[in-house]
Amino acid sequence: MKTLLIRRARVVDPVAGLDGVRDVLIEEGKISKVAARIQKPGVPTLDLDGLVVAPGFIDMHVHLREPGQEWKETIASGCAAAAAGGFVAVACMANTDPVNDCRAVTEMILAEAERHGAVRVLPVGALSKKMEGKELAEIGEMVAAGCVAVSDDGKSVMDGGLMRRALEYSTIFDLPVLVHEQDANLLGTGQMHEGAVSARLGLAGMPASAEEALIARDVLLAEDAGARLHVQHVSTARGLTMIRLAKRRKVKVTCEATPHHLALTDEALESFDANFKMNPPLRPEADRAALLRGAAEGAIDAVATDHAPHHADEKGLEFARAPFGVVGLETAVGVVLTKLHHEEGVPLPRIVELLSVGPARALRVAGGTLEVGAPADITVLDLDREWTVDPEKFKSKGRNTCFAGMPLKGAAAMTIVGGRVVHDAR
Ligand SMILES: [Zn+2]
Repeated sequence: MKTLLIRRARVVDPVAGLDGVRDVLIEEGKISKVAARIQKPGVPTLDLDGLVVAPGFIDMHVHLREPGQEWKETIASGCAAAAAGGFVAVACMANTDPVNDCRAVTEMILAEAERHGAVRVLPVGALSKKMEGKELAEIGEMVAAGCVAVSDDGKSVMDGGLMRRALEYSTIFDLPVLVHEQDANLLGTGQMHEGAVSARLGLAGMPASAEEALIARDVLLAEDAGARLHVQHVSTARGLTMIRLAKRRKVKVTCEATPHHLALTDEALESFDANFKMNPPLRPEADRAALLRGAAEGAIDAVATDHAPHHADEKGLEFARAPFGVVGLETAVGVVLTKLHHEEGVPLPRIVELLSVGPARALRVAGGTLEVGAPADITVLDLDREWTVDPEKFKSKGRNTCFAGMPLKGAAAMTIVGGRVVHDAR
């Protein structure tokens, strides 16, 4: 159904400065009118009285695991999870097998997404060949094939010379370079954040400075190159401060934070549950508070999940051997509405910026607006729905959530992609 009349929704469109009850008409998969009252007899109608209509949410940091690790997730299952979570589009990282470092893999991902994906898939190409950090990948080819950014996410680019070349080269395409920031030499065999809790638990720690050192390096390199740098999953107060200062100098830097870094601290590791083992690790309360402030005030541009599905057998290993990473697509909206909106009082338009406008801008893709002519990509929110996270109900193949059993308030009630309803949980 590509023609649809939405009636009596609270429409929140930060770009248009709109927060009020409106009707929205969708024709040919595009927004064709937003007005107080729209008369259009004979058109399928949705009455969304009491619900919020927002420009579609975009998760700019997702691991879809296909090709190569389909037992963890497929493009189809990951897209189904995204739709169920309220996302109309996902940017998928390149650490598949084979790595998405050339045109053929990008094309395969896009073809599979076209055939079996409920939502839009935005491939991110590798920055270096095979993500080995030695030689630049075929960036121009991948951009031509449809990649929206480059990143070696999962690994940090330890060679500053290579990072400098990548940033300089990216300016030809005005392409965002997404960076996973951790000095690998400072991490050692760290399992969690290095601090009081790791000392108490006797677990090897990862110092916050490992992340901050590379943020500092890359902000400077991006400034010199005039390139677009996007810092993935920023997790520390000092890291965010460096990004804030760079923004003040007009460096083209953006950043994202994950729902788990906004909601949890390293105290969660006391349980030795590998579902709290992620990279970057959960940090102490002071860092979490700084991220909350950054999300509320605008230093943080986007909330992104770093959705990283693993099989239960792998996550079930003893803590030290279990892989890093948690799923996030189906809990993100509930966690953000609960923690940021209901608990911290962050206004809804700001939430929509973090989940829609910000990611669209950082990736330089369509979306983040309900203006006439834009694709009818819409997330419908039920702000008051109370629910409890049950991993068994996930569409994702991954059950490795750090929010199992958590009571939440607020959910994605519907997801609409190009005027087509791909999720309806009203
Ligand atoms: Zn990462």
